[in-house]
Amino acid sequence: MSNEGFSEWLWRAPVLVTCLWLAGFAGTASADWYRFSDTAMTTPVELEFWAEDKALANRVGEEVLAVFHQVDEQMSRYREDSEVSRLNRNAANGPVTVSDGLFQVLEKAREVSILSDGAFDITFGSVGYLYDFRAGKKPTEEELRSGLPRVNFRDVVLDQDARTVEFRQAGIRVDLGGIAKGYAVDLGIERLINLGIRHARLSAGGDMRLLGDKRGRPWYVGIRDPRSEGRNAVVLPLEDVAVSTSGDYERFFVDEAGERVHHILSPETGKSVQGVQSVTIIGEDALTTDGLSTAVFVLGPAKGLEMIERLPGIDVVVIDDQRMMHVSEGLVPPQTD
Ligand code: ADP
Ligand code: MG
Repeated sequence: MSNEGFSEWLWRAPVLVTCLWLAGFAGTASADWYRFSDTAMTTPVELEFWAEDKALANRVGEEVLAVFHQVDEQMSRYREDSEVSRLNRNAANGPVTVSDGLFQVLEKAREVSILSDGAFDITFGSVGYLYDFRAGKKPTEEELRSGLPRVNFRDVVLDQDARTVEFRQAGIRVDLGGIAKGYAVDLGIERLINLGIRHARLSAGGDMRLLGDKRGRPWYVGIRDPRSEGRNAVVLPLEDVAVSTSGDYERFFVDEAGERVHHILSPETGKSVQGVQSVTIIGEDALTTDGLSTAVFVLGPAKGLEMIERLPGIDVVVIDDQRMMHVSEGLVPPQTD
C-alpha cells in the first residue's frame, strides 16, 4: 500500500464508521410489527407485536417464546420430570405441595368442571392415555371399563391454604392438555405487558389472546372451517380478548367403523365426543376460554350455549356436525327492521 493510499484510507475511515453506525442505528431503532414463531407444547406458537425498536423486539420475542417451553416442562404429562408427572406419581399417597402456577390451573380446571357438570374433567387422563392418535390406537371396551372409575374431578382434592393436591384414589392421572396452553398464553401476555408492549397477538395452537388493537383498527380473527384448512367459516373483528378453539380436526384418525376418533373425550364414556366439529370461546383470559372451549365441545350445542349464556363476558360459536353455526346472544347481529 502506498503512503498516499494509506492516508486516503485513514481519511475515509471515520466516514465509513459513521455510515456503519447509522446503518446499525437504523437497524435497531425501527418501530414496526415483529413476528416470531416456534413449536412448543406440541403445537405452533405464534407471536406478532408492535415494538419501537428491533433490539427490544428480539428480547421480547425470546422471553415470550421461552414461557411456552417453561410451561411445557412444568405441565406436560409426557415428560417424566414435569411437575404434573410428579403429582400423578405421588398424590394418591398424600398431599403434594405444588407451584402457584400449577395450583392456579388446577383451580380453574375445577371451576370449569363444576360449571359444566363434569363435562370438562382433567382426570379424563386416566383413560386418555390409552389413546395414541398418531398410531391410530384406541382402548378396548374392557380397558375403558376398568379405567372409567378413576375419571372423576372430585377425587382431586385441592387445599388452597396449604397449596397442596391430593388424589382420593390410586390410579388417577390428570392431563392438562385442555387448559395448559391457555395458561401459557396468559403468562406470555403478562410478559408482553411488563416489557412495555401494547399491541400484540399471541397464539399457541387454538388458544389466542389479543393485546390492544392493531394500532387503529381491530385484529381480524378467523374461525376456520373445521373441514377445510385454508377456509374460514367466519371472521371476527376483535381487540383485547382471548379466543380459544377446540376442534375434532387437530388430532384424530378414522377407525374401522368409519368413526372419527379424536382427542376430546367424554368423561362419561371415555370415547370421542360426536355431534360437534368445533367450538370457539371469546372471553377475557385464555385460561378460562381454553377450559370452556373443551367443556362446550363435550356438552354439545344446546347445553353448551345454555352454560355460556349464564357467564357474563363470555361468548361462543359452535359448529355442529351438520355444519350449522350456533352463536351466543352477544354475537347475534342487530336486527334490521
Ligand atoms: P387443542 O389442544 O386442540 O387446543 P382443546 O383445548 O380442546 O384443544 O384441548 C384438547 C385436549 O384436552 C385433549 O388433547 C386432551 O388433552 C384434553 N381433553 C380431552 N377431553 C377432555 C375433557 N373431557 N376434559 C378435559 N380435558 C380434556
Ligand atoms: Mg381447551
